[in-house]
Amino acid sequence: MSEDMMTQVERGGYGHAKRLGGYAARRLLRAGAKWFVTSVLPAIAAPLAIGIVCLIGISLFMVWTFGSAPVDAYNMPERAEYERSARECFPVIVSPDAEEERHRLTWGLLAAVDHFAGGIQDGEAKFCGVETALALRPDFEYRDSVVIHERRVKEDDGTTGVIRTETPVKLLTRAHTYKGVYDYSYKWVTEQDGDDRTKREVRDSWEFRADTRKLEALLRDRLCEEPSAELVMMIDKAGEAFTSGKENLDWLVNEEEAWIVDAMGDNWESDLPPPTGEFIWPVEAPVTSPFGNRVHPIYGVTRFHSGIDFGVRSGTPVRSANDGVVRYAGSAGGYGLLVAVDHGGGIVSLYGHNLLAEVEVGNSVKRGQVICMSGNSGVSTGPHLHFEIRRNGKAIDPIEIIAGGGG
Ligand SMILES: [Zn+2]
Repeated sequence: MSEDMMTQVERGGYGHAKRLGGYAARRLLRAGAKWFVTSVLPAIAAPLAIGIVCLIGISLFMVWTFGSAPVDAYNMPERAEYERSARECFPVIVSPDAEEERHRLTWGLLAAVDHFAGGIQDGEAKFCGVETALALRPDFEYRDSVVIHERRVKEDDGTTGVIRTETPVKLLTRAHTYKGVYDYSYKWVTEQDGDDRTKREVRDSWEFRADTRKLEALLRDRLCEEPSAELVMMIDKAGEAFTSGKENLDWLVNEEEAWIVDAMGDNWESDLPPPTGEFIWPVEAPVTSPFGNRVHPIYGVTRFHSGIDFGVRSGTPVRSANDGVVRYAGSAGGYGLLVAVDHGGGIVSLYGHNLLAEVEVGNSVKRGQVICMSGNSGVSTGPHLHFEIRRNGKAIDPIEIIAGGGG
C-alpha cells in the first residue's frame, strides 16, 4: 500500500472505531443519566435536602447565638445560665395576645447586674442570675374580659339562628417592670369571617411612667449603699449592650470618652505655666487595676484603661498630685463624681468615682491638698479611686511623671 492508502485505511479504521466508541460512550452516558435520575436521585434527594436545611440551620444558629461578630471575652456558658434564669423566673403568660412577652428580662441585664453590683470577686463574676431575675421580674395586673364568638346557622324550619359562646380571658392592664410602669388600655374589635363573628378587646395604647425602684432596691441590697443614678442608668445600658453584642459595647466605650469631653471640653490648653516640683500619688493604697489594655470588669471586652485604680474605702481623702487650679468638680457620667486639676503645661489630673468633692472649680490647690473623698459613684464595681493624667487631652501612664512606681 502506498503511504497515502495506508493513511486512509488507518484513518478510516480509526474514524470508525472513534464513531463506535463515541456512540457507546453516549449510550453509556445516557443510561447512566437515566439510572441517576430514576434510581439514585430519588434515593439521595431527601438526605440532600435535609443536609442543606441543616447547613442553613446551623449557620442561622451560629449567627443567632454569637451575633454577627462573637462577643469579645464574654463567656458563653454563663450566658446560657442567665438566659435560663430569665426564662424560668418569668411569670406565667395568661393574656390572649401574650402582651407579657414584651417585658421579658434579658440575659444581658442579669449579667450586667452581677458585673456591676457585688458579683465581681477577684475579676470573676459571681453568678446570681436566679436571685436577680426574681428581684427584677415584672409584676402583672389583669382584668377580666370575654371573647364573644357568634355563628349564624340555618335552622331546620328555614329561619336563621345564632349560636353564641363567651370565653373568659385575662387582659394585662399594668406591668410593673424594673424600668417603670406600663398601663395598657383596650378597645373592642369585631372580626367577621363568613358566618363567624368574633368580638374581643385588643390593646389600644399604653402609658409609661419611669420607676426604677426595683433595680435600685436590688442594688442597695447588693452594694450596701445607695446606688447612684448613673449606676442605675449604666446597668440598663450595659444590659442592652450585653444582649445585643459587641457593637454596642464599642458605643459604650466611646460614650465614656464623651463624658470626659462633656466635663472638660475638648480644649486642653492651659493659661498656667508648666508644673514645677514632683508629682505625687493621690492616695497610698494598692493598685487594683493598672494603666493600659485590660479586660474590662464590667463590659467584659478588652479595653484601654485610661488611668490607675486604687482600692480604697469610701471616704478616703484624695490628694492633689501637684499644685494647680481645679478645672472640674461634678458629675461626669461613668466617672461618677469627678474632680480635675489643671497643673499647667497641658497636664491635667483626674480623680473619678468620688463620694464628695472638697473643692470648687477655680480653686487653687497645693500638692498634697485633700481635694475630694473617694467613693463608688459612676460605673464602678466597688469603692475605688480612678486616677488619670492627661497630657494635651491624651491619657498617659501616670508612672511616666510620678517617681517611685505604683502608689
Ligand atoms: Zn479606673
